[in-house]
Amino acid sequence: MSDEFKTVSDPLPSASRLLRGRVAVTACPGQDECGLCAAACGFGALTKPGRLPVVDGEKCIGCGACVKACPRGNMRLVDGSKGEECEVTVKCSLSDLPETDEKVRALDAAGKGLGPARVIQAYPLPDGRNGIVRFRANRAFINTAVSFVK
Ligand code: SF4
Ligand code: SF4
Repeated sequence: MSDEFKTVSDPLPSASRLLRGRVAVTACPGQDECGLCAAACGFGALTKPGRLPVVDGEKCIGCGACVKACPRGNMRLVDGSKGEECEVTVKCSLSDLPETDEKVRALDAAGKGLGPARVIQAYPLPDGRNGIVRFRANRAFINTAVSFVK
């Protein structure tokens, strides 16, 4: 993935929330005070009380609007309901968009390869520049898999 979409490590919601399915996680470093993610959330689950956005995992329904809205790829969805795999949804450049079922490699925030991943869904966004990718990888990577490489 391009540098534009590299994120930093960030805390996850509770284990019980992760088991209930997709939930947003922010990795915003606070360099941008745009708040586009919070503005895109129609469920009151994402606010920006200060420099950083804050996700309320109990209100989040995992719709992904914040992931699409963030211009820097600092939002992702994680899903801990898939047994021995985790599912991660990220935004990427259109040029990096893989095919559905393609084998990719999950990366951590430093760009280090974590292990194999499989693309569940991949589609372009209407902006013509970016896309959304949902991939599954080993459950052990749920906290660290923030992007992928083809
Ligand atoms: S995934 Fe949807 S409900 Fe959850 S914080 Fe993002 S926009 Fe709000
Ligand atoms: S839209 Fe992205 S860069 Fe802007 S505040 Fe939200 S997470 Fe940070």
